[in-house]
Amino acid sequence: MSVSNAGDLSSFASTIMLPFQPATVFHKVDVEINWITQEGQGTSGPIQASFQGTIQDPLSKAWTKTLREVGYCLTGDPFSGSATGGFSSPITVDPTSKTRSYAGSAYFLPANKTGSFCSGGIGSYAFMPMTDFATESGEEELRELFKKYPAENKDMERYNLLRTIFEDPKESTGSAFMFLAQTFTQNLDPHNFVSLGISLLHPLSRGSVHIASADATQPPIIDPKYLSNELDVEFMSRHLRFMETIAESQPLASFIKPGGKRNHEMAHVKDLEAAKDYVRTTTISNNHPACSCPMMPRDKGGVVDAQLLVYGTANLRIVDASVMPLIPRGNIQSSVYAVAERAADLIKEDHHIQK
Ligand SMILES: Cc1cc2nc3c(=O)[nH]c(=O)nc-3n(C[C@H](O)[C@H](O)[C@H](O)COP(=O)(O)OP(=O)(O)OC[C@H]3O[C@@H](n4cnc5c(N)ncnc54)[C@H](O)[C@@H]3O)c2cc1C
Repeated sequence: MSVSNAGDLSSFASTIMLPFQPATVFHKVDVEINWITQEGQGTSGPIQASFQGTIQDPLSKAWTKTLREVGYCLTGDPFSGSATGGFSSPITVDPTSKTRSYAGSAYFLPANKTGSFCSGGIGSYAFMPMTDFATESGEEELRELFKKYPAENKDMERYNLLRTIFEDPKESTGSAFMFLAQTFTQNLDPHNFVSLGISLLHPLSRGSVHIASADATQPPIIDPKYLSNELDVEFMSRHLRFMETIAESQPLASFIKPGGKRNHEMAHVKDLEAAKDYVRTTTISNNHPACSCPMMPRDKGGVVDAQLLVYGTANLRIVDASVMPLIPRGNIQSSVYAVAERAADLIKEDHHIQK
C-alpha cells in the first residue's frame, strides 16, 4: 500500500518588527474573508470554525494585500477546489465559547465539556500556481522536466493526472503560508520571527505502509519516502523561491527587519540551486498522510469500494483519510470529517436507521 503526504513543507523565518502605521479600520475584504458563500460553506453543523483575531491583525491584512500586489488576488472560494490567491483561513475554534471545536467536543462530549482554549495555527494562506512555467520557455522547461523524470509504470495514471494540474497555469500546486512564530526548528532564537513557507499540494513521491509481521500487535513499517521523486524537489524549490518575492513586496516587507536575521543559515533561497538545497535540508511533513487504502477499482489497486467496504469482505469498512484516492489540496481535516459523515449515513442506511 502506498501513502501520499500533502504536502511536504519548507519555510524560512525572518525577524519581524512592527512598522509605524496610522490607525486603520479593517474590513472583511482587506483580509480576504469575504469569500464565504452559503452554497460553498453551509450554515450549520457540529464543527465550528471562526476567524479568531484576523480582522484586528495587521499582518493578516498585509499578507493578502501583498499577494494582490504580486498578482495573486483571490479568485473565488478557496474551498471550492479551483480558486487561487491569498486569503485568511478559518480555524476550528468556536466563535462563541472560544474553545477548540473537534470531533470529540462536537460529537461525543457533553456541551459543557469543550476543549481548552486554542489560539494560533496558520491563518494566512495562498493557493499558488507555478509562476515559473507560465511563459513559453517555462512550458518547455516543464516538458523537459517531465521527460527527465518519467512515471513508473505502476503509477502512470496518477502521474498523468497530476501532470495536467502542473501544466495548467490556473491550477494551484503550492500552498504558501505565513505565521507569527519561528519555523519548526530545534534551536529557537530569542527574537520575534514571522515564518513564510510553502507546502506542496500534489506531491509525486509515494511512500508505503506494509505489515511487518503476522503478529497483529507489531507496528507496520511506514516509509513516507519524502521527496523521493525529484520532481517534488524541482517544483517545491521554485515555489519556495517565489516566497522571497512575497517577503520583499509591500506591505509585508515593511514588517520584516531590513538586514534582520533568518532562522537558518541556508534560508536565503534566491536562486534555484540554493532553494533546492534548502528544500532537501529542511523539508518536513505537513502531517497529512492519506491514500493508503484508496476508494478505487480493485484492478487499479483500490482497497475499498464506493460503500467504503474493503474488497472481499462483507462488513469491514475503512473510515479515515486512507480512503482518499488523491490527497486533497487544502488542509485535509474537513475532508476527513466529510468521509466520516458519509460513512455514518451508509451505516445507517444498512441498518434502516433514519438519518
Ligand atoms: C501535528 C499535526 C498537525 C495537523 N494540523 C492540521 C491542520 O491544521 N489542519 C488539518 O486540516 N489537518 C491537520 N492535521 C492532519 C489531520 O489531523 C489528519 O489528517 C486527520 O486527523 C486524519 O484523520 P484519520 O481519521 O485518518 O486519522 P487519525 O485522526 O490519526 O485517527 C486515527 C485513530 O485511530 C486510533 N488508533 C490507532 N491505532 C489503533 C488501534 N490499533 N486500535 C484502535 N484505535 C487505533 C488513533 O488513536 C486515532 O484516534 C494535522 C496532523 C498532525 C499530526
